[in-house]
Parts: sequence; structure tokens; C-alpha cells
Amino acid sequence: MNYNFIRASLLLSGLVATLHAQEKPYFQQRVDYTIKVALNDEAHTIAGNWAMRYTNQSPDTLHYIYMHLYPNAYKNRHTALAQQLLEERNLDWWFGNKDMRGYIDSLHFSSNGQKLRLEYDKQHIDIAKIHLATPLAPNQSIDIQTPMFVKIPETVSRLGHVEQSYQMTQWYPKPAVYDRDGWHAMPYLDQGEFFSEFGSFDVEITLPSNYVVGATGELQQNEAELQWLRERAAWTSRQNLNKLALQPDTFPPSSANTKTLRYRADNVHDFAWFADKRFYVINDSVRLANDHWVQVWAMFSNNDANYWKNAHLYLKRAVRFYSDVVGNYPYSHATAVQSALSAGGGMEYPMITVIGDVGGSYDLDVVIMHEVGHNWFYGILASNEREYAWLDEGMNSYVESRYINTYYPHQDNRQAELAYWFLARRGGDQPICTHSADATGTNYYLTAYGKPTLLFRHLEKYLGTARMDSILHQYFDTWKFRHPYPNDLRRTFEAATGEQLGWFFDDWIMTNKRVDFALRRQRIQGDSIYITIANDGELNIPVSISSKSDTGSVLQTQWLKGLAPRRDTVICFPLTSQSQKLASVEIDAFHNSTDINTNNNSPEPLKVRLGGDFRNPEKKRLNFLPILGGNQYDGFMLGVAAYNLPVPLRKVQYTIAPMYSFHSRNVTGFFDIQYNHFPRTNSPIERLTVGINARSFSNNYNKNFDYFTKYVRLNPYIEIELPRPNERSMVRQTVRLENLIFGTETPQFEVISNPTNPPVFNYTGKKMDWRSTHRLIYGFQNKRSLNPFHILATAEYANYTASSARQHYLKLSVEGNFVLQYAANYAVYARVFAGGFVWNTMPNFGAMPLQLASRNITDYQYDQLMWGRSEQEKWASQQINIQDGGFKTPVALSSYDGHSNLFITAINLKADIPVALPFGINWLRIRPYFDMGYFANTEPSVGSDATRLFYNGGLMLDIGNGVAGVYMPLMGNKELMNQVKSLGNMGQRISFSVNSKFFNPTKLARTIEF
Ligand SMILES: [Zn+2]
Repeated sequence: MNYNFIRASLLLSGLVATLHAQEKPYFQQRVDYTIKVALNDEAHTIAGNWAMRYTNQSPDTLHYIYMHLYPNAYKNRHTALAQQLLEERNLDWWFGNKDMRGYIDSLHFSSNGQKLRLEYDKQHIDIAKIHLATPLAPNQSIDIQTPMFVKIPETVSRLGHVEQSYQMTQWYPKPAVYDRDGWHAMPYLDQGEFFSEFGSFDVEITLPSNYVVGATGELQQNEAELQWLRERAAWTSRQNLNKLALQPDTFPPSSANTKTLRYRADNVHDFAWFADKRFYVINDSVRLANDHWVQVWAMFSNNDANYWKNAHLYLKRAVRFYSDVVGNYPYSHATAVQSALSAGGGMEYPMITVIGDVGGSYDLDVVIMHEVGHNWFYGILASNEREYAWLDEGMNSYVESRYINTYYPHQDNRQAELAYWFLARRGGDQPICTHSADATGTNYYLTAYGKPTLLFRHLEKYLGTARMDSILHQYFDTWKFRHPYPNDLRRTFEAATGEQLGWFFDDWIMTNKRVDFALRRQRIQGDSIYITIANDGELNIPVSISSKSDTGSVLQTQWLKGLAPRRDTVICFPLTSQSQKLASVEIDAFHNSTDINTNNNSPEPLKVRLGGDFRNPEKKRLNFLPILGGNQYDGFMLGVAAYNLPVPLRKVQYTIAPMYSFHSRNVTGFFDIQYNHFPRTNSPIERLTVGINARSFSNNYNKNFDYFTKYVRLNPYIEIELPRPNERSMVRQTVRLENLIFGTETPQFEVISNPTNPPVFNYTGKKMDWRSTHRLIYGFQNKRSLNPFHILATAEYANYTASSARQHYLKLSVEGNFVLQYAANYAVYARVFAGGFVWNTMPNFGAMPLQLASRNITDYQYDQLMWGRSEQEKWASQQINIQDGGFKTPVALSSYDGHSNLFITAINLKADIPVALPFGINWLRIRPYFDMGYFANTEPSVGSDATRLFYNGGLMLDIGNGVAGVYMPLMGNKELMNQVKSLGNMGQRISFSVNSKFFNPTKLARTIEF
């Protein structure tokens, strides 16, 4: 399977990196920038001059310098960013006009008056090589300069503008890192961060004088600007920010005068600036433990001003917290600005962070703290974020979780554990060491943020907080303003603890092997309790066992080391402790060990509860909910559903929902039980599901004799999902073998003796008739965001009794569903169908023909939920299914037209009208539709008109994008329109469909992916 390949190649590259590390001593390059630009806030451009002094501190002679020209990532549809945005389903950008895009040009690199050749990367236009005129020897510097011009894109990722609010990040030419492993040139990505050289910046920005600017670095000798900012802060303090949050944000006109702001920064590897004329300003300062004072600045607009009124407090608290836990903040200020940000909740740059919209004060505090924290994990400890996102995001999120525990002790902090279960239970989790660009969206969260947070918290519990903090300080002191690699972190931890930590750095970080400890037995002997613990997982990590009081508090914790997979061991706790009574014991009571199955971590009894608890899905619970139902014959039904939560997926999922009909007085309902298996390694399959579902409802009512008949449909199946080409692939292939077993009640009559003419019948009761159908279905789905499609190939075999004889047939069909996107929100939808009988023992009067228009009475496989399955008049008879020929017009059954025991081919088209609906409603759409079908009929009465071409068209109301539809026929071929007219007025001619798939929670849950 693919992740084995990823793992193997990562292990290999890790090995290569280790070898390199042993061969070459550590070095890092130095880059000193001087940049002068002016902002044009009407054209949304910057223009000016760029220069750098590049100092080669490597032992190698350089012939070229790899440059990142990241504004070019926004230039066209072919960049790595554009492709990734498409994968992230950003179709607005894909179909956007040229004005939205951005780029960098006017680059003419030179050194000492000598022109330097710029060679663009063949694949990525945001990477280029500057060829040096003379090779750059070790310990030599070169000065390179160029004019530059940047067209600022509309905000879609990180660099951009929303009207006259500017987010100037990755906006200038920047060398890629050159280190022991060589050049690290990488295209700009939305999911995937950065790696840059340390040095200094001297940046001058000219712009209209009423812009508030927040930037990396210190503002140079500009008392007038500082005074202006102080006045702005004083003015802000007089505002009612709660009230302003409700008012719209408008941009004041730009001042005719300009100002030039000069910033200098040392010991940083990036420079970002943000300019906005609307900003309110709050300024404060905080003193660190080493008596260093840090200025904090908050800059924001009306939107969320009610939360931002306390932003300076969050900034101060974050700077102080990280300084205490990791190491003292070395810079003069920490600034947070509020701005449009499409790449996520917040984004970090040295000394300055940008924060997008937030949902409340707590969210703002956490996002500000997290982004400020990146000054340590990214800014000062500048690891390769693209390759080892867990080193910056993971360690930062770990400290974040400690901040939350400190200042919000009652905050629920379990999303990482829940997300891990969600992915891992369906075999979709990737190892923490996965490259950012190879991780799926949820896995990026989990590998970069969630799982490392759990792991570092586990390590902290194992080592003790004081020891952990001392090691973090050592790591900070050794590696500040440098580029640490995972091995450097490992060496720091191993040297400080004197322990081999391969279980952490090799097994837990480099693989997605499972942790599953289980409490097997507990036995009381004397004043002690003896507990048997087994390792059912694949990893041998230290695990904690805690005794807990009856109030749930932890009394005593013991650590168990070296419990190998498939082994068990016994440990002992005293029965009473600290005068509290020992009530239970629990493995990993802190919930940090990524235990895949915590059901067996404590001796917890099964609980029966109303409704599911999605926040604690691991609890042993039987959930139940009252449910309602209805159809034409059963009328109103009331029942109860017993189920286990479908998310995260379990090996065994079930829903059992018996109901009672107050009309037919039948017991009705449904159940669905499935077993899911996700093989772990070297398997030719991705998933195996074995299941059975069943339902039973009434399907008819006979008014004359006053009886109901019902049906039972049983559907056992095996479903296999074939391996995906890679984890990010949108291709899904499934093979499903299923059996459909139908029991239908048939009324029994006797002819009353001495028959008169006409004979009189007497209803004598019902008899259950059984039949069965076999299906083999292959599905190929490409869920890509542009032009997705889904193809289903089905072989259906049935054996049934008709005309007092056993009949059988084999039917093959192929159905393709294609979406052809012609704008971000509009598409043409094409469905093509071809089906035919390979053999059929009743070629003339087969009971289960192909249908041009499938409707309530022709749903002989009971595939859909029907309101009135047997109705041939009134509105219930107007329910159709989009299957077989997919026609929307329910043609009369008495006609020979529209069904076939030979073959049917059809195409069904529907299209979006490129008009936006009012009020932003997009779950309701009016679409024109057109169906065309060609079929052959073999009934003897048909005669020479055996093959036919039918078509019809009209308007449909699509509800919930495929959940339901209402169809109004407007045109068609003559025979069809004659039948349409015979249906009655317009109200009787419309038809409707409901997609049953959306009413099966277990099936939906299995197909939900993030
Ligand atoms: Zn982050």
C-alpha cells in the first residue's frame, strides 16, 4: 500500500540525511537584505529596488543561488499553488479572472554592474536560479541587486489584498536554504510552509500617509510616525469597540501625501508587513523574567473589534508564557494584526502575526497565542517546516495546549484524540513525518498539529514537567537562530535524559503503528489490587496506569516501560491512598497515548443512553433515539433506534430500528449491521465491509377486502475498496457483491362455491413469496474538484417464478455520471446509461425489464424508499427513481413503451443556469433537463416498431444537490407527449424523486471523508 512506500522512502531519506549529518559539519548561510518599495493602492502593486548580500558560510563553492519568487505562485493555473487550491476545491480561484492574480516581474539581477542570468525552474515559475558570474567561494559574500515589481493578488492564500487592506508576505525575492543536504528550493503552497535563511533586513516602504503599518523589525528614527501611532492608540482607547464591531468597515480615501517607513530587523529569516487605513491600535508592554521589555501592538478593524479590545492582554500573556516555557523572547516587539487570511485562522512571521476572523474572545486568545508562539517554533528555531511540520506546528501546538490548560483549565481539549480516531479507525491516518504536500487535509492537521501535541504531552507526563521545560530550554539555547532537524531535537532529549528515545522519535513519529493497551483482569488480594495489562497494539511505548478515586480524580500513577506487543504484565496498586477510596484504575488516564481503542482501558460498565455522545465516542454505550416514519399504507409510524455512533467508525456498526404502524398495525422498521476491516500492511485492499441490512414496510392496501400486504427486503453484501494510488488521491474503486432477498405478501383468494357469473372471490389470507437477486457492482469514482465523475458497472442475475415456472436472466449495465464545470458554481451534468440482457428466459414478458423511466411501481428491487409503492394514480404514483434510462416522465404502465427485455441506452442532461439565486441560496436550483433514450422492445404486440428513439425535456427543481428533485415535462417525442397529456393537468404531469442514500446514516457515515 502507498503509505508503506512513503514510509520506506522517508526512512531512506532520513538515513541519507543522517549520513550527511555525519559527513559534514553544521553550517548556515547569511542573507542581508536592503529593500525599498512604494505601494500603489489603486493598481494594487509595489515597485522598487531589492538588494542582498549573500554570504557563503558553507564549505562549498557556489555557482548559482536558488531563489524563491513566491508572488509568481499566483500567476496562473499551472503553479503548484493553483493545483493545490484546486485540490482544496477552491474553484473561485481556478475560474477567476486575470485581475485576481499576482506575480513578480521587472527582475534584472546584477552584481557589481554585471548582469546575472536568471533561469526559471522548468516546472515551477516561483523558483529560479541566479547564475553567478564568478563562483562564490566559502566565506565570501556577493552583493546582488534588481529592480522589482509585484502585482498583489486578491487574497486567496497568504500574500494578497482585500480592497485596500494589504497582507505583504513572501513578497520579495528570497534565496532558498542551502545546508548540509544541499539546496531546499520548494514551490509556494497553501498547505505547506517555509524554510529560509537567517540574516538582516533594512526595508523602506513608501505609501499614503494615512496607512497604519505593522511589520517585522523596528521602525527607524521616525518620531512623527510613532507620535501618529500613539495618537491612534489614544483615539482607539476612546472608542466603544463593542459597538464598532457591529458597524460596517469602510476604507477612508487615501491621503495625497505619502510617508516612507524604514524598518530594520536582525536575526530573522523573513519580513512581512501589513497595511490598512482602518486599523485601530492598542499598544502595551510586558516585562520578561530576564527584565527585557517587549512592546506589544494590536491592530484591527471594526470586524471583531469587541474581541480585539483585549488583544494586547493575550499578546502579553503569550510572550511571557513562551518565554518562561521555552526561552526568552529576543526581539523588541510582538505585533498582531487582523487581516484577511485565506490560509487559515492565523499566520506567523517574525515579530508579527496575522489573524483572520475569529468566533470569540477565547478563539482570538488561542490563535494569537499560537501565532506568537511561532516566534519560537519557526522564527527562532527555524526548522524546515515543509518537510517536518511537526517540528514547528507540533511543538508549538504542544506549548499551546499547556497555555490552554493553564488559563482555561475547564476547556475541552480533545479534538486531536477524536480526529485521530476518526482517521485511524478507517485506516486513513498517515505518519507524523509525512511531507506537508503529501498529507490529506485532515492528516495535515493530525500529523502537523494534533498527534504531535498528544505525543509531546505524553512525553511531558513521562519525563515530568520540570524536566521537559529544562530540555526545551536546552533545545532553545542550542538551536536559536539556526535550523534544527529532527535528529537535533532527538539528540537534545536523549542527552538530557540519558535514555534511548527510539520509541518516540522512530516508532511514534516515523510510522503510523497503533497503540492499544488493554486492562485484562483485576484481582484484589490483601490491601492491594493486582492489574493485568496487555499490549494489543504494535508499539512499545511507556504507558501510564492510574488509580482513580470515586470522584474520578487520579490518586496515583505508575509508568510501565518495555511492554512489548502481544505481551502482558501484572502491576499492583494499594487499595487506599490519601484517605480516598480507590474506585477504579485506568490506562492512560491523561488521554495522550493515541490509544486506538480506549474501551478496554478501564473496567467501565456498558451504559444505556438517550442520543449519542459525539464528544466521548469511546465510552461503552448503547444509544437510542425515538424515531418517526410514514408512508401511504403504514401511515404514521413510531419506533426506537438503537445504534452505536457511526463516527469514528468502529469495526462493528449497527442501527436497529423497529417501528410500529398505527395504521396497518404492522411491526415495521429497518436494521443495518456491518463489519469493517481496514488491513494494515501489504494488502491488495483498502477496506473490506461485510454487512446486512434489511427493511420491512407495507407495500399495498386493498380497500375492497380491507387488508395490507408488506414486504421484507434483506441485503447481505461484501464490499471491497481497492487501494488508492496515494493518500491524497480522489480516486475510489469499490467492488460489491450483494444478494437481495425479497419476501412479498401475496393475497390468497378462493372462489365461492356455486360460482355465479361473474364469480365471487373470498379473501382467505396472505402468503409470503420469496425471490432473490444477485448483483456484482464495480464502482470507479474520481472525486476531484474539477469535473468529478462516477461510473458504475453492474451485473444482475435473478431467479424467480413466473407463469408457474422458474425463470432467470442476466442483465449487464453501465452508468456514468459526469460533472462538467464551466464556472466556479455552475456545471453541466451528464448521465449516460447502457444496459442489456445477456440472457433472459422470458424475452417477451420478463417481469423485471429495463425501464426508460423508473417509477414507484417498477422499483422491483425495492432499491428506493417509496411513499406509495403500488399507487397508480394520485401524487404518490408520480414518484420516480433516477435509474436505468433515467427519464423524468413517469410514462403509463399500460403502454408497451419505455421498457425493454433486450436493451436500453440513454443520456440524461441537466445544466445550471448561470444566474445567482437570491439570498445566496444554493441548495435549491432550477435546472433545465433533457433525456434521450434508444431502446428495443420484444413484446409481440409491438410489431415492427420494435426499436424506438424517445426524448423528453423540461425544468427541474433540484433540492439539496441531488437529495430530491421535482420535474416538469415541457417537450418530448409525440408518443411520450401523448402519454404525458393523458396524465392530466400540469400538477399531475410533474414527477418527483427522493434519493434514499441520504436517509441511510450508516452508509453515509462510511462514505464521509475529510
Ligand atoms: Zn501554526
